[in-house]
Amino acid sequence: MQSARSAHRQPLSPSRRNLLRGGVALGIAAAATAVTAVPASASVLPKDLFGKNDYPDAEWIPADGSNFDTGNRPSDYPVEFVVIHVTQGAFDGTISHFQNPDSNVSAHYVVRSADGHVVQMVHDKDIAWHAGNYDYNTRSIGIEHEGFVDEPAWFTEEMYASSAALTRAMCDTYGIPKDREHIIGHNEVPGADHTDPGSNWDWDHYMQLVKG
Ligand SMILES: [Zn+2]
Repeated sequence: MQSARSAHRQPLSPSRRNLLRGGVALGIAAAATAVTAVPASASVLPKDLFGKNDYPDAEWIPADGSNFDTGNRPSDYPVEFVVIHVTQGAFDGTISHFQNPDSNVSAHYVVRSADGHVVQMVHDKDIAWHAGNYDYNTRSIGIEHEGFVDEPAWFTEEMYASSAALTRAMCDTYGIPKDREHIIGHNEVPGADHTDPGSNWDWDHYMQLVKG
């Protein structure tokens, strides 16, 4: 993501407290709470609570509307790339960050390290702000992975497998070739000043999984 450091800085407990206080009135936030509080059975709440996820295996937790552009892809822009990111912060903080109207960043999907849980935050048809290059934003799906580029232990097999299934689905849906010219790291976006996913990301393994 663009402001990875600020995501990392966000303390988790105050936001959790607020979510709990908000209770049912904050339906969206309540869904986020359920994910963190009950990781093994997020299905306590209906997975498709808001009926808006494009990817069937994703939980829908929308980003704030000021953190992306509404689009009508693939009609207005072709979807040609999948951009792989690492959050440089924890899963919950990343979700909160994309829900924060002041952050001005988002991604379509966020994948959790421990179990590969996928959250969708921006519709595929819309333009998430993740690549640091607007032209690439218009033509890509952005996937954030929980972890730190210098700490490969975050890159679990569960996360690789789950993310690869997601990327494979995106490729099949939008006709994106399953190769490294079209499935790229944030660091490979022209003009990018970010290093994610970094040298610890196992591209060979990931691409094998994507290709099935
Ligand atoms: Zn990134």
